Amino acid sequence: MKKVAVIGAGLGGLSAAISLATKGYSVELFEKNNHCGGKLMPYELGTHKFDFGPNTITMPDVFKQVFALASENPDDYVTFKKLNVHTRNSFADGSHFDFTSDRSLMKNQLVELDSFGEAHYDSFIKEITRLYTLSEKHFFYKTFQSYTDYLSPTLGKALLQVRPYESLYHFFSRYFQKKEVLEAFSRYATYIGSSPYVSPATFAMIAYLELVQGVYYIEGGNVQLAKAYEKVARKLGITIHLNTKVTKMNVTNKKITSLVLNDAKTAAFDEVVMNADLLKAYPELIHEDNRPHFTNKKRDKYQPSISAFVILAGLSHRNKGLLHHNVFFSRDYEKEFNDLFQSGSYSWEPTIYISNSSYTDQSQSPDGDNLFILVNAPALHQDGELGVDPEAYKQMIYDQLEKRGVQIRDFLVEEKVITPKDIEEKFGAYRGALYGLASNKKIDAFLRPSNFAKDIVNLSFVGGSTHPGGGSPMVVISGLNVAHALGNRL
Ligand SMILES: Cc1cc2nc3c(=O)[nH]c(=O)nc-3n(C[C@H](O)[C@H](O)[C@H](O)COP(=O)(O)OP(=O)(O)OC[C@H]3O[C@@H](n4cnc5c(N)ncnc54)[C@H](O)[C@@H]3O)c2cc1C
Repeated sequence: MKKVAVIGAGLGGLSAAISLATKGYSVELFEKNNHCGGKLMPYELGTHKFDFGPNTITMPDVFKQVFALASENPDDYVTFKKLNVHTRNSFADGSHFDFTSDRSLMKNQLVELDSFGEAHYDSFIKEITRLYTLSEKHFFYKTFQSYTDYLSPTLGKALLQVRPYESLYHFFSRYFQKKEVLEAFSRYATYIGSSPYVSPATFAMIAYLELVQGVYYIEGGNVQLAKAYEKVARKLGITIHLNTKVTKMNVTNKKITSLVLNDAKTAAFDEVVMNADLLKAYPELIHEDNRPHFTNKKRDKYQPSISAFVILAGLSHRNKGLLHHNVFFSRDYEKEFNDLFQSGSYSWEPTIYISNSSYTDQSQSPDGDNLFILVNAPALHQDGELGVDPEAYKQMIYDQLEKRGVQIRDFLVEEKVITPKDIEEKFGAYRGALYGLASNKKIDAFLRPSNFAKDIVNLSFVGGSTHPGGGSPMVVISGLNVAHALGNRL
């Protein structure tokens, strides 16, 4: 039986491992942390439970595919609950716009907020549906293993049809006029760690996911998904080595001959699938002489996606007016992205996102709100500097939220701050980036690093830094794609 090692038990690694096991590989999974799920990590503070990482779940059918491959019924493991009104977008002028997949509710709100938008909402939905359908058909399930894949005429034609040359913000402004409404839609760029003012309009397909398919929550916390995948993996006989970091890969004649582990032991495999962040782990684990197509200089040229400054706040009180997902927009959204990407600095009047899953599921936090507060942060500087005083930044966030009516300090019983530096250290994420590389440049949006190493015959990549991209459903797809291609090699 051919042996495969998967390095990293993030969602990408888990989906690859499960899928490979169903295709007849003997699979071992190596994870440096003591939990499966990578950035989808459970966090408990007293009676308050949090999902770190993916709070917004879309595309449940993608997650279900992994269970189906293993001949398991997803309903035996996880319950996806659709959130009716999923996100409250609150603006500095006191108005708000609630996002929902209920089209009439969206239009009713637009009558007041943006009558131009109300008149164009149906054509907007039609266009984002077209963008999604094309992307799913031509991009999601491809692995781009050779130049002929890139040069395929169907792909080129499809690419031209998904508005690669228009910015996301410009695209939304065809359908909506009011600044606040436009900003609420433009925030979708942050789901791929990028700026709406430069990333391609193709990513308006994310709006399709939320506004047509809907936003979901997994009962008991989104981390239940990772726990379920771990169970399925063990059931399939996959050996999971937690607390086991891969520290080096030995290469001879363009082939990985063995992995070196943190206890200095070595292990040999026929294939290696790397879920650890490509931009960080590939240069760290394989000597530069063995990867001429991916030199350190080439890596340094990639623009990392945004990172996050996160506060987990457990309260002894429930704030009225908060929904499950909440966004408090700043007055100058564009400046925030200039700060993040052009000057690489923190915004001191940022847009603030709050997930309060106890709104939907009180069992997560029976005594009060469990606020997962996230502000977009620049990736760490090249020298590893954070670039902000975390205590001062946290206090500024609390000030802003309290001004907007979210009561925090008077009811705060538990608190934990997680910075981009923590994200880098905990998950091995390059410069603390959430989604690998940004999609601000067209080349990075459409030509992410390939799923197969060009210099090493038995090494492939899954996860946010590679194709098809960041975000929890996409990394699961990358795992399925690579496993499918390796299955064909058997
Ligand atoms: C704060 C935050 C909020 C987010 N919000 C959302 C959201 O709302 N919706 C959404 O869809 N996505 C969201 N994301 C993004 C999402 O979490 C990621 O895209 C996805 O989970 C990444 O999965 P992955 O498989 O690529 O890698 P990861 O989850 O990063 O897993 C990689 C694994 O490799 C391990 N590893 C690294 N190096 C080694 C080594 N040398 N040896 C062994 N193991 C190693 C790491 O410990 C890690 O467990 C968010 C991310 C963060 C951090």
